[in-house]
Amino acid sequence: MMLKIGITGGIGSGKTTVCQIFSLLGVPVFYADTVAKDLMVTDAVLIAQVKGAFGNKAYFDNGSLNRKHVSDIVFNNKQELEKLNSYVHPAVFRAMDVWASQQKSSYVLKEAALLFESGSYRQNDFNILVSADEDLRIKRVMERDGVTHDKVEARMRNQLSEQERLNKADFVIDNNGTQLLIPQVLHLHQVFLDKASGGAQ
Ligand code: ATP
Repeated sequence: MMLKIGITGGIGSGKTTVCQIFSLLGVPVFYADTVAKDLMVTDAVLIAQVKGAFGNKAYFDNGSLNRKHVSDIVFNNKQELEKLNSYVHPAVFRAMDVWASQQKSSYVLKEAALLFESGSYRQNDFNILVSADEDLRIKRVMERDGVTHDKVEARMRNQLSEQERLNKADFVIDNNGTQLLIPQVLHLHQVFLDKASGGAQ
């Protein structure tokens, strides 16, 4: 049986870095946030829903998304944001299911920044949290993106607290810099291979 494993973490926790290591081991990775962006301009059902809710102005004549128009509506308006999410999340689930059915491996990974917030973690067999302290995450993102401390903190505001994420995770990868990532990934890889074959816990 092919397992579906979710992987998440706060901004700058190292999700992408960890997924790259799994990928080197041959594990297929579905990047939900990238797929969601693609679907916004390719999925006919989703496009019709977005236009229905936010007007034809949500898209330019050339078919690209009018990000400013949509974000002006959903920014600071929880109800409108939830409406948008209620269209996007099912479209991503549909795409994930199709993608997963095409993979030939013991397990697949689904990386999503808001895995727990969206509730989509419930559809996975197990969920991994990549965990790192907030100060370190802010420092890494400032260096990676060349942005200010305040900008990173603002991006963190929509996310759950680290404690809430820890409570929901089945496995934790510690990326505080004291433990190496590769041995932790190798350990989990073995755990998932065993679980997929119905073997050792
Ligand atoms: P985002 O939520 O913004 O997409 P992310 O969780 O995917 O971020 P990464 O992009 O993987 O995080 O990591 C953030 C930055 O920290 C990157 O520049 C990455 O190279 C660096 N980084 C990640 N893990 C480590 C580590 N163990 N040691 C040093 N640098 C690290």
